[in-house]
Amino acid sequence: MSDKVRVRFAPSPTGPLHIGGVRTALYNFLFARKNEGDLILRIEDTDQKRFVPKAEEYIQHCFDWLGIEFDESPRKGGGYGPYKQSERSEFYNQHIKKLMDDGNAYYAFDTSDQLAEKRAESSNWTYNAVTRGSMKNSLSLDKAQVRTLLEQNTPYVIRVKIPENKEIKIIDSVRGEVVFQSQELDDKVLIKEDGLPTYHFANIVDDHLMKISHVIRGEEWLSSAPLHQLLYEFQGWTAPKWVHLPLIMKPNGKGKLSKRDGEIGNFPVFPLEWMDQSSGAIWHGFKEDGYFPEALINILAFLGWNPGTEKEIYALDELFRDFSLERINSSGASFNPDKAKWYNKEYLQAKKPEELVLILKDEFEKRGKDIDNSKAQQVMELMKSRAHFVHEMTEVDFVFAHPENYDEKTQRKKWKEGTPEILSAYSAELNKLSEINEASIESQFKSFLEEKEISMGALMPNLRLALTGMGSGPSLYKIIEILGVEEAQKRINIAIAKIHAQD
Ligand code: GLU
Repeated sequence: MSDKVRVRFAPSPTGPLHIGGVRTALYNFLFARKNEGDLILRIEDTDQKRFVPKAEEYIQHCFDWLGIEFDESPRKGGGYGPYKQSERSEFYNQHIKKLMDDGNAYYAFDTSDQLAEKRAESSNWTYNAVTRGSMKNSLSLDKAQVRTLLEQNTPYVIRVKIPENKEIKIIDSVRGEVVFQSQELDDKVLIKEDGLPTYHFANIVDDHLMKISHVIRGEEWLSSAPLHQLLYEFQGWTAPKWVHLPLIMKPNGKGKLSKRDGEIGNFPVFPLEWMDQSSGAIWHGFKEDGYFPEALINILAFLGWNPGTEKEIYALDELFRDFSLERINSSGASFNPDKAKWYNKEYLQAKKPEELVLILKDEFEKRGKDIDNSKAQQVMELMKSRAHFVHEMTEVDFVFAHPENYDEKTQRKKWKEGTPEILSAYSAELNKLSEINEASIESQFKSFLEEKEISMGALMPNLRLALTGMGSGPSLYKIIEILGVEEAQKRINIAIAKIHAQD
């Protein structure tokens, strides 16, 4: 193992990347950058039954969007490639030999039916030191029988021989010392019938050959760590440092966050949209829901780590500086969809107005609406303070056309016999404005009420109704500024013609 920090993210392309996986990749990224180390993307694609086309591409797209950069990857290459396990068979074949020669692994010829039978007899049956003697393998059969079976090309797998009564200690950076007993482990398959390695074997061979210094991965892999540690010992290799990250939990804290939780709670759990090829089902991603990539980075950074201060908004370079393994929590971190929105709002509010105007223009364009810079600027000023997402700022149909419908409740409650007269008077008053901006409109509006002794409640809701059709919304003064006096007057006239007092 070299002294240089080298960490890896090693997804299996079995589906879209859940935010738990993205968080693991992010922590590896932060740790690598903080320590001037290397970050490697390795695709663990030896399980051909679970292989999902497009998953690898999806994974890479997610990282491109988030700005998580790998120093070595299938796309980029590097000095320790190939970076896809399906292209690394020669290494596994080479290294399984040592385990076989030393008696730490053995051939097992049991058919899947025979194994299924055993499991049917007893649900917690496992292949281990107690049972292996009664199974068909190179430990229970004599050498000649094994040779014959191999010569006859009998299908086999290679299993690890877990030693009896051995204590296996893992030193985990998050959890400290974790002790396992070898009796808790089973003789896992290392090489499958198709000749390809299983995850466990390929993973340790590659981590060793790629000189990985720290294995930073989800807690669900902690139970595999003793097997991995043993395999390193059998190979005579030093194991990397272990760092098992806390699980990301459901919003209520009970159990691991799943895509089903996202469906129920109507929040994303994948970074980008994903379509399930067999069912055609589509899941929205954070991107499509309007999250900024830098907000998602910030959200994920805080799911399992905190800086120990009140500071919650962290740009990537600040994370590079402050991130540390010591401040990773050992208990699960609940995903809070409201807090996620809060983060996005913070990022939106902090955007420079010029940048936000351009983003907003694009957003309008996506919705088939062409809007010039000065209008986009006005809409931005109108909608920004309440918005969590840029798409919410485009919910301004009233900017483009006069309302077709008027909010029923406001009509019923506020539109009185005398309303048209008040609105007409106000409409005429608008001609006297020397400057058309939010402040001048507001001050004129207020003096008009005072002068005419009209209450706010008699004019404001009806004016809003006439201009926007809505019962509530953003600053009416700003809306008049955006519409302009003439358009506002036109809308007041239309409303007066269409709406009639109901009592
Ligand atoms: N291929 C494993 C996964 O899909 C990698 C686990 C590990 O990091 O060791 O998560």
